[in-house]
Amino acid sequence: MNILFMGPPGAGKGTQAERIVGEFGIPHISTGDAFRLAMKQGTPLGLKAKEFVDQGKLVPDEITNGIVKERLAQDDCNKGFLLDGFPRTLQQAEALDVMLTELNRGIDHVVNLKVDRGLLLARLTGRRICKACGSTYHVMFNPPKQEGVCDKCGGELYQRSDDTEEKVGTRLDEYISKTAPLLDYYSGKGLLREVDGEKEIDTVTAEIVSCLRGSL
Ligand SMILES: [Zn+2]
Repeated sequence: MNILFMGPPGAGKGTQAERIVGEFGIPHISTGDAFRLAMKQGTPLGLKAKEFVDQGKLVPDEITNGIVKERLAQDDCNKGFLLDGFPRTLQQAEALDVMLTELNRGIDHVVNLKVDRGLLLARLTGRRICKACGSTYHVMFNPPKQEGVCDKCGGELYQRSDDTEEKVGTRLDEYISKTAPLLDYYSGKGLLREVDGEKEIDTVTAEIVSCLRGSL
């Protein structure tokens, strides 16, 4: 079972991905982990990527694609994989098709977690952090007993500048505009499985599993 996992920030993608790889006994491949591994092992591509990262530059697609391909070629992917965080653009999707063909593999399902923009905003802007001890809260899902005050140490809670509505809104809009062509691409190939990510965590997992097992 070869799966691509997609969904905007705040959709619960990481949590669901962990559950799905557990259910199907396949490795969870995130581009972040693949990069860290390649750099740590000092592979030629890992070393090249590190040069860009150290200079604060964006790693070019050829290197990213190469690192993903090396990871997908490893033995633990023989029984399948869940790829998360790649592809992010149409060019990367096309490159992925080429590399999977070279590896004699293909994509079986592209899971897209759908969550309304307003709910994503609420989820992503609700985080509060204690200035004193760093404990985190959420105004909706994990509120402190007293608004604005840390339960553990009485410290003052604040919102990170990255979590403001303006910043989060920009991040979401960028994600949506970049991935819309990807969703069309996979939809055209009959691979797209849209799952309602607004439901309870367990319900979402059950729906993804039944999608993947082909009973939906
Ligand atoms: Zn505190």
